[in-house]
Parts: sequence; C-alpha cells; structure tokens
Amino acid sequence: MSKLSFEFPDGNQKEFDAGVSVEDIAKSISVSLAKKAVAGKVDGELVDVFAPLQKGGKIEIITSESEEGLQVLRQSAAQLLETVAKKQFHDIKIGEISADEDGFYVDTDKAERQVSADELDELANQMKRIIKNDASVKRVYLSKDEALKEVDGDPYQAKIISEIDSDNILFYDIAGVLTLAQGVVAPSLKNIKHFKLLSVAGAYWEGKSSNPMLQRIYGTAFYKEAELEADLKARQEAKERDHRVIGNNLDLFFVDPKVGAGLPYWMPNGATIRRTIERYITDKELANGYQHVYTPVLANLDLYKQSGHWDHYREDMFPPMEMDDDEMLELRPMNCPSHIQIYKHHIRSYRELPLRIAELGMMHRYEKSGALSGLQRVREMTLNDGHTFVAPDQIQDEFKKILKLMMDVYDDFDIDNYTFRLSYRDPKNTEKYFDDDEMWNKAQSMLKGAMDELGLDYVEAEGEAAFYGPKLDVQTKTALGNEETLSTIQLDFMLPERFDLHYVGEDGKEHRPVMIHRGIVSTMERFTAYLIEMYKGAFPTWLAPKQVEIIPVSDEKYGDYARKLNEKLSAIKIRSHVDDRSEKMGYLIRDAQTHKVPYTIVVGENEVKNNTVSVRKYGEDNSRDMSIDEFVMEILKDISSYSRD
Ligand code: ATP
Ligand code: ZN
Repeated sequence: MSKLSFEFPDGNQKEFDAGVSVEDIAKSISVSLAKKAVAGKVDGELVDVFAPLQKGGKIEIITSESEEGLQVLRQSAAQLLETVAKKQFHDIKIGEISADEDGFYVDTDKAERQVSADELDELANQMKRIIKNDASVKRVYLSKDEALKEVDGDPYQAKIISEIDSDNILFYDIAGVLTLAQGVVAPSLKNIKHFKLLSVAGAYWEGKSSNPMLQRIYGTAFYKEAELEADLKARQEAKERDHRVIGNNLDLFFVDPKVGAGLPYWMPNGATIRRTIERYITDKELANGYQHVYTPVLANLDLYKQSGHWDHYREDMFPPMEMDDDEMLELRPMNCPSHIQIYKHHIRSYRELPLRIAELGMMHRYEKSGALSGLQRVREMTLNDGHTFVAPDQIQDEFKKILKLMMDVYDDFDIDNYTFRLSYRDPKNTEKYFDDDEMWNKAQSMLKGAMDELGLDYVEAEGEAAFYGPKLDVQTKTALGNEETLSTIQLDFMLPERFDLHYVGEDGKEHRPVMIHRGIVSTMERFTAYLIEMYKGAFPTWLAPKQVEIIPVSDEKYGDYARKLNEKLSAIKIRSHVDDRSEKMGYLIRDAQTHKVPYTIVVGENEVKNNTVSVRKYGEDNSRDMSIDEFVMEILKDISSYSRD
C-alpha cells in the first residue's frame, strides 16, 4: 500500500497508508483530539473526518474552536434542515446548500407553494428532535449512476451531481434520509443545539435571473448559546438600522424596480435631508476656496474616449445613445471630464493654482442588478465631487487640506467610525489600469508619504485604485456589516496629459498641472443611506425633515394658537408642522415619537393662557414648560450646534 506524507501545523511530518482518514490521523496524536475533531483540512481544503484520503499534504485537525469548525457546524445544520424538509414535504426539491461566516442556507423548490416563514418553527422543532434522539450521521458513497437514481426527479440535485468530478459520491444518511454532501458535516449532530432558522427569501437557481426562482431558507448556528444570542441581537440591530426599512417608515425615499432598478425617488422628507446636506457641503466648500459649477450629464462620446473611460470603465457605463445625425451621446459615469472642460475654457496662470472646481454632479453607472441596494448602491447618483488642479509641488499641501476638510465635515456629522485605505493598482491587470509604471510608482509613494507624514493609520489594498491613479479611500461599515467607501481622494497624472492641460508658470512657460479628484461626503445617495443607519432615523435637529411637531390638545380651542406658533417658527426657517388630525392626543404624541421628530410641542389651556409651550425633546422622558422665545432660543442653538467652527 502506498504511503502518504502529512505535515502538521507545527512543522512535524508523519506518514500514513493511503486511505487513512482524518479521524485515524487525529487518533495517532491523541484520543481526545480525535473526539474533538469535526473535520480536517488538507492543503487548504476541508474534508470529512471519515473520508479515505488519497493524497498527503499540509494537514490541520479542525475542532469547534476554529472558524472552519463553525462552518462545519453550520453545514451540518444545513444538511439536517434538508433532511427534515424532505421528511416534511415529499415533493420538495433541493438546490444549493451552503454555510459561511454569515450562517447557512438551503435552497428549496416545491410545486404548489414555497416553504413559508410560518413553517420555520416546525422545521426547527423537527431538527431538534433528530439532534436529541438520533444525532449520528452515516456516510454512504454511491457511484454517479446510483447517485443520479437516488435523486431522481430533482433536476437541481441531478445537475450538481453531474458536475462532480468523481464516481464516488458522498451522501449523508441522517435519520434514514440520504442527503447529497454539499460540504463537510461533523461526525455527530449533537453540537447543533444553538441554532435558529431566520427567514426565507427568493433566490435564483445558480444565481441567474433566467433560471427558476427557488425559496432560500436562511439560518445560523453556534457552538455556544451566548454567541447565538449575541448574533441574533446584532441581526435585530442591523434590521432596525437598515436604511431601506427606516427610509420606508419615515417616508424618505423609494425605489420601484418596475419603474427603474437603482433609480431612487426622494420623497419630501428625504429631499429635505438631502437639500440640507447639499447646502451644508456647498457652503463649506465655498468657504474652503472651491468654485461651484453646473455641467451637463450628457456629453459627446468622444469626450469619454479621450478621457479613457470608454477603454477602461465601459462596463460600468450606460450604452451610448445614437442620435439622428450620427452623433453619439453618453451619460457620464464620472464628472472629471466635465470639470476639465471648465479648466480648459480659460488660459490658467500659476497664480490661480490650486484651482478648485466643485459640483454636486449627477452621474450614471450601470451597476449590476444584484449589487443594487436602496440608496447605498444606485444607478443614478449625485456626487459631492471636486477636482483640484495643482502644480506638482502643491500636491502634498493640497492633499492635507482636503483631508482636513474631510475630517472637519465628519466631525460635524458625528462620524467617527472610519478607517483609511490606500488603494493601489493591480500591476498585473493592464486592461483595467492606465499603463505607465513610473506614474503609478510616483503617485503611490506620494500618497503613502503624505499619510505617513500625517501619522495616520491605513491599510493598503492592491487592485482598488481608479484606472487613472491611486487613491485614499475612507472606509465605513454599513448596518449590515458591509464595508463601503464614503470619501475618496485620488491623485491623477494621466487626465492632465490626455487633455493636454497647462498653466502658465512664473517663468512664462507652459507647465502640466496635476489633478486631484476628491469626494467628501460621497454621493447624496450613499451618504444619506449611511446617515439614516448611523442615526437610526433619529436625525439631529439640523438634518431632521420635520424639526417641530405642534399638537393642540383640542383643535377647536387651541388650533389657532398652534397655527400662529407654527407660522412664527416657519418664518425663521424652522421646519415645523401642526398635527391637527382628529385623533387622540396620546396617539399624536406617539406618532411624533415614532417619526423621531426632535421637538414635540403640546398646547392646551395653560399654554394659551400663559403664552407658553410645553416642549418634549426626542429621547427625553419629560416635557418642559417655557415661553415661546425661550423655545426659539433653544432650538436655534440646537440647530447651529453641529458646526464646531
Ligand atoms: P465603489 O468601489 O463603491 O463602486 P468607486 O470606487 O467606483 O466606488 P468612485 O468612482 O470613487 O467610486 O466614486 C466616488 C464615490 O461615489 C465613491 O467613493 C462612493 O462613495 C460613491 N459611489 C460610487 N458608486 C456608487 C453607487 N453605485 N451608488 C451610490 N454611491 C456610489
Ligand atoms: Zn474625478
């Protein structure tokens, strides 16, 4: 019998006969390790503890303590779910099943109606019963023909089997039901005590929208109860923060895929938040030496050929529109070429540099439909964009200025949970990145140098640069845990070259400027999504769509007083509103709370008599009585408090 050689994590080597299992190998180390083993990993690939190994390599024994151990637990739970689903529904077909760091899922398909969320508890109960009574798992190997016979009538399973490159196909026999191994299952199911079936949602077979829609059952599992509880709590928290849910509850925006996927509609409340951000950032930039412009979203395709977008960014662009007279018009995916036109419109002198052009520039990108998400990733977006044209010796200073502006702005929005990422090109990908080694090396080391000089921490990421140059990205986390870029500062030596930009230097000669692309608060879409999640919809007063809700105890008696107060507040640009619906007062107050209005004012007999208001601030338990002037002073101070200038 041939021998296989295995290398352990500590560097030790051992030989075993071919066909040895991970269990045997673990036993050769210690019986207790063999007991704890839930799987093995050979040369980076997870294997079943009982699988007869045919080749050696680097080996690890996987126990519950590792990440892979968790994956095995979840895969076991998924296969168990498949088992009980098959027992429960005889006509069920099984698509993909999978486990990862988020949990597990099983894709199912039924002829009549799909598995519903109401049925999850029953399925979970049946899983628990098997774990308690018969937690053993038998391994059954079938030939390909036998396997296909076993799954007869299930086209998804048949497809998966036909794609397996072996005639020895592993099934798990759990409680008398055979399930095709779609991952590695633990020797026993007894550890799956702490699990939860979470939800159901449609998912296309093989992820293709031309394929049938299956019903995906999501779940998660942990070795420890406390970990499951913490995870469920985090999921609940994420749901409460999800900007799509809050956006709907607070009537901020909507996206209707029938009208256009990734094309959001801003309702008046959302529009107010956006307008406030737009005014804020425009004023801030004007105060920091930027000149704001307006430029068209459409331009001749030639502009994007010259800029390089057509060569390097085409897959993100909408196809050009061919007009009657053979003119090709393109929706811009970035604003840079437009701002270059502004620069080029005059002869520029070194005295004008750094020249800072800014715009709330609308642009269109053909994002994949699966990547679209509420306002976070859209197809039409308005970027707080700016391009600074500098002389080469001004790069470092300007970079620092932009960074300072960015941190100032973050401070005003109370954003402190972010990290820096230096994004470099992937030198091997010549298709995606403009080809000029010297330019890349220079620009990359310049960015790194500036960050080091400022003493800021950052991570470096290859392959994340823009096609024209490296960038500093500011990374934040969304409520659902995804990392997203908010701000970005990008160095560019390429576009000034392509568009033959110059300025007249002190020496009277022409020189080439360098371009710095920067977005401070990102797109209005992504930034609003981020703020909704960060504030959980409870916007600080300066951003809140409605700042004051005035509720008269009786509209008949005190409505006029309420409306007069409202007029007075509106006249000084406070966003106030009278809720004179004929509902119970308690209901109206609660409604103002659920809509997270910063100030709720109740007016009744006392208030009218004393010319006062009874004010309750969002998040406070008690209301306070004060004169109208006192209230105006308080709210105006509150509104202006975001700015720490
Ligand atoms: P991403 O990597 O997120 O696709 P990008 O690096 O292509 O973004 P840039 O060209 O740098 O993006 O665009 C500037 C900013 O616009 C990004 O930092 C991001 O905050 C925002 N943004 C990019 N794409 C979208 C989108 N589809 N929806 C909303 N905002 C976006
Ligand atoms: Zn740009």
